[in-house]
Amino acid sequence: MLGGFLVIGGLGVVIGVGLALASKIFYVYVDPKIEAVEDALPGANCGGCGYPGCSANAVAIVGGKSSPASCVAGGPDVAAQIAEVLGVEITLKEPDISRPGCYYGVQDADVKYLYQGINDCRAAALLDGGAKICPIGCLGLGTCVRACPFDALSMGPDNLPVVDTERCTGCGTCERLCPKHIITLTSTSERMIGEYVTDECTAPCQRDCPTGINIPAFIQEIRNNNYESALAIIKEKCPLPLICGYICPAPCELACRRNLVDEAIAINPLKRFVSDYEMQTGKHLTPFKAPGSGQKIAIVGGGAEGLTLSYYLARLSYHPTIFEAKPQLGGILRYVIAEDRLPRKVLDHEIEGILETGVEARTNMRMGHDFDLQSLFEEGFDVIALTKGGFDSRQILKPDPSGYDASVPSVFTMLDFIYSLSKGKNIRESRRVVIIHSGLEGLELARKCRDMGAQKVTIVSSLKAHELPIELQDAKRLTAEGIIVRPSTIVTSLRGISRRLVRVAIEETDPIGELPEETMTIRADTLILAAGRLPEFVFVRSEEAEGLEPGEIAWETIESFRTFPGGNDGICTPPEPGRISDSSAVVKSLLSGRRLTRAIHRYLTDGTIPPIQHLVCEADAVLDVREVHDVSPSERERPDILDVTGDSKRAWIFPSEYPGLNEASAKKEAERCLRCGLICYRKQK
Ligand code: SF4
Ligand code: SF4
Repeated sequence: MLGGFLVIGGLGVVIGVGLALASKIFYVYVDPKIEAVEDALPGANCGGCGYPGCSANAVAIVGGKSSPASCVAGGPDVAAQIAEVLGVEITLKEPDISRPGCYYGVQDADVKYLYQGINDCRAAALLDGGAKICPIGCLGLGTCVRACPFDALSMGPDNLPVVDTERCTGCGTCERLCPKHIITLTSTSERMIGEYVTDECTAPCQRDCPTGINIPAFIQEIRNNNYESALAIIKEKCPLPLICGYICPAPCELACRRNLVDEAIAINPLKRFVSDYEMQTGKHLTPFKAPGSGQKIAIVGGGAEGLTLSYYLARLSYHPTIFEAKPQLGGILRYVIAEDRLPRKVLDHEIEGILETGVEARTNMRMGHDFDLQSLFEEGFDVIALTKGGFDSRQILKPDPSGYDASVPSVFTMLDFIYSLSKGKNIRESRRVVIIHSGLEGLELARKCRDMGAQKVTIVSSLKAHELPIELQDAKRLTAEGIIVRPSTIVTSLRGISRRLVRVAIEETDPIGELPEETMTIRADTLILAAGRLPEFVFVRSEEAEGLEPGEIAWETIESFRTFPGGNDGICTPPEPGRISDSSAVVKSLLSGRRLTRAIHRYLTDGTIPPIQHLVCEADAVLDVREVHDVSPSERERPDILDVTGDSKRAWIFPSEYPGLNEASAKKEAERCLRCGLICYRKQK
């Protein structure tokens, strides 16, 4: 008996010691932070963070591979808890919300066949892409609704998914499952800086609007009496809607599908109607502002482009400060466009609205005189954006009589340069000169620079070699003169130290092979722009410069916008400095200001500015219709012009006399809109 107890007791001791040893030998350390982070995560295992579940994300967060704010389902509260566990600070990001991008259910769209198969969109899509003729249309079988882990989706009466924005966590399950890719995660910020791409559902008017306003959406809000919502939609893309209501040439109306029935929708008067509505309230709509980092951005130039940039940067919670040389903001809008066309009270109202978003303005401040790049960086600005726009076309202002008007160190427009030479200045200090030009004037200037002591002059031209004047094709002779010509080449960025330009980066536009590494940058101390208006440069501090003297700051420009290489041939190419916006109309400079916002935001948040793939450009063929059916003609609403002349152009030439649409007319006009998609539209069955 005693023996039995001893055996069992002994066995117990041996096993206990063995287990204790095994637990020491096979011990796996679990970082208590991982457990704490996992406890903070909601346990939804939705995959919205990009990891297979909450445990995997907890490991990744503690390992620094995933952001403390990566849990989309948990939102800001969970992010704050995790940040506390890790002892770090986080920058909150505006949540992305699911947004279906199709507006016509199967019963309202043109179809190829009747589908009676399995009740799953993925199965239906296998049959020739689905029943709809539109290749990107919603198939209406609710796969996304059943998949949503948060019950945030339902099918609406028109067989389209409807999002409960309170419940949607932005996990992305619906986006991943939709076989037609019509559901995307988006936010107000993303829409503000976004561009239309060829494979999304857009209306013809929307694609042709220079600023990209979602026209059918804002007209729909007018139909629903939601004037503030209509204005909020407009201001996602256009910060000066009332000004546009007066001066925009309205290319959207030329593209309006309603022209195929009778007359275009009065899109611009409708835009002006909701903007007038805001002005009559005496207040400005309080715009949505995304959480942000509050970094300081200096904007040089307070015209339409600078104002636009400042508005969107403020809405992304940066701190923009405009530096304007003139006593008041507005640029061409204030100092060139006649008051008959644009009443100054309208301009002042719009500018006040922009300043109210948190934009600081310093007027009577000239770059190169009252401040420069160095002083702005010293003042703590993280980015400096140059939006000198239209004035630098030099068609309006005379050059600075005191000599070179080089507001950017060592960068001159050709007219300024020639003017300065005519005043007896010389360029002794310019040893290496780069001239952006494609004509004989550029060659003449290059020779002049050589005569005055420049050791090397490089002419950069976006034209192909055979398109250049014959004199510029004689490389051998020009090289002997110390002049290098680089055809099919663009300048992509500048690099300098304090008040000196040191390098110009170039890139081939039509590469046959890779450029040798050493030709990607050219040492230069003078750049002469002879290719139109001054481009929208964005300056940031450069970390790469060596041998800085104490107090010196190195800077470089970033390439703020370009289409994807080998892509479009439309308005956006060639991607040449100076062609960023093609600001032939003020409204186009609004687009340019928005694009600069995207570039600066991407640069500050991601460190890179990815090119936009499948951007809608003029040359792109986007799916459209050539005729419309089942739409009854109805006359376009016109404003009551008291001084009836019978000449509709009078309203255009003297818009301050043009009273705009009244509420009843605006609503009637909004009813005429066909609410177009790529090929669908409202039919009267
Ligand atoms: S609607 Fe989409 S993104 Fe939103 S919670 Fe549901 S599945 Fe996730
Ligand atoms: S009918 Fe409406 S949605 Fe269609 S193109 Fe004209 S304004 Fe745009």
